[in-house]
Amino acid sequence: MKTDLRHRAWAEIDLSAFERNLGKIKAALPERVRYIAVVKADAYGHGMPQIVSRLLQCEVDCFAVANVYEAADVREIGPGAEILVLGALLPEELEHVAAYDLTVAVSNADELARLAQLGERHGRKIPIHIKVDTGMGRLGIWHEQAPALIGQALNTPQIELRGLFTHFSAAESDPDFTRLQRERFLKALETVPEERRTGLLIHADNSGGLESFSQNQPFNAVRIGLLQYGHKPGPGAFLSSIGTEPVLSFRARVGLIKELPAGTDISYGRTHTLVRDSRLAVITAGYGDGLPTSASGRGKIIVGGGARPILGRVTMDQTIVDITGMDNVKVGDAVTLIGRQDGAEITVEQFCADTECIAWEALCTITKRVKRIYRTARVTT
Ligand SMILES: *Cc1c(COP(=O)(O)O)cnc(C)c1O
Repeated sequence: MKTDLRHRAWAEIDLSAFERNLGKIKAALPERVRYIAVVKADAYGHGMPQIVSRLLQCEVDCFAVANVYEAADVREIGPGAEILVLGALLPEELEHVAAYDLTVAVSNADELARLAQLGERHGRKIPIHIKVDTGMGRLGIWHEQAPALIGQALNTPQIELRGLFTHFSAAESDPDFTRLQRERFLKALETVPEERRTGLLIHADNSGGLESFSQNQPFNAVRIGLLQYGHKPGPGAFLSSIGTEPVLSFRARVGLIKELPAGTDISYGRTHTLVRDSRLAVITAGYGDGLPTSASGRGKIIVGGGARPILGRVTMDQTIVDITGMDNVKVGDAVTLIGRQDGAEITVEQFCADTECIAWEALCTITKRVKRIYRTARVTT
């Protein structure tokens, strides 16, 4: 494995795998369906600029981000792209919407009025998607009140209604409730006059939603995050059949090897007692890199060809791993916290089980200190 001086902890991002995932997801959807790529939180820790560039090369031109600052960064890379801001805007963020030509998710009449004023000031229409709350209880207008807000948006000259969407709260675990959410949303949609519906993006499905995505419904777009990075939100058969592969591997190094006798209490809080004469590898990554303290005493790291247990607490910069009985480990060796190495694998799912977190969280809490390294397949002609 090629490394350089800076690499105490790094994430390898396989852009070819990312591109294959994209192709597979698109192939699994009807052709008419537009693909909104969710690239918030630095593209789930994968690095927004590289991911967005790759998406643009793959002719994806619609992006969803959490806020106007992320949107401004995407705008630099995709001057002509459509950028949907999913989160609620703070008052001082409003001007960015006009400055960066953003599309905004709207949840109520107050937001609509503020955007109409913005449009008035700039002498143009502000593009919006109305978000309908069908049971998540977070953003969006409650579905029973949605028809009034949609009507209001259609009748506001400074507003261009471009889409309607909702968000599932249990797409991966509760198909019945997801069906109810779809029905609530479609009922709100029915109040839009047929001739005003043409051209609107109608979307509900995140990665988990694809499990119940149906060709027969009026949905004409999806908003995909986790799955394009290669991870399934749940065990669904359809999601599995798409066959996406992990894009990110999280690696570090062996910083020190030492031997200590049985009975020694080690780590902060003396949280681990060595049960045998032990050989320990001190790994050059800790919670300051994105290995949560919840991995203390229970997670594993691939060292010397096998997944070896973490002993004691994960600390800010270092983590102790038991390598007793292994004589093939050297200082400087690469180790793997997430991913494959030497025939062993720690999947994100395994990492999450060991650290009591969710895949989204595991990926986007890999910190800034961890250098992202991009790999692409060599182009052969
Ligand atoms: C983050 C997000 C998504 C993407 O969800 P995944 O489960 O990662 O596919 C879609 N829609 C909204 C509103 C989101 O906030």
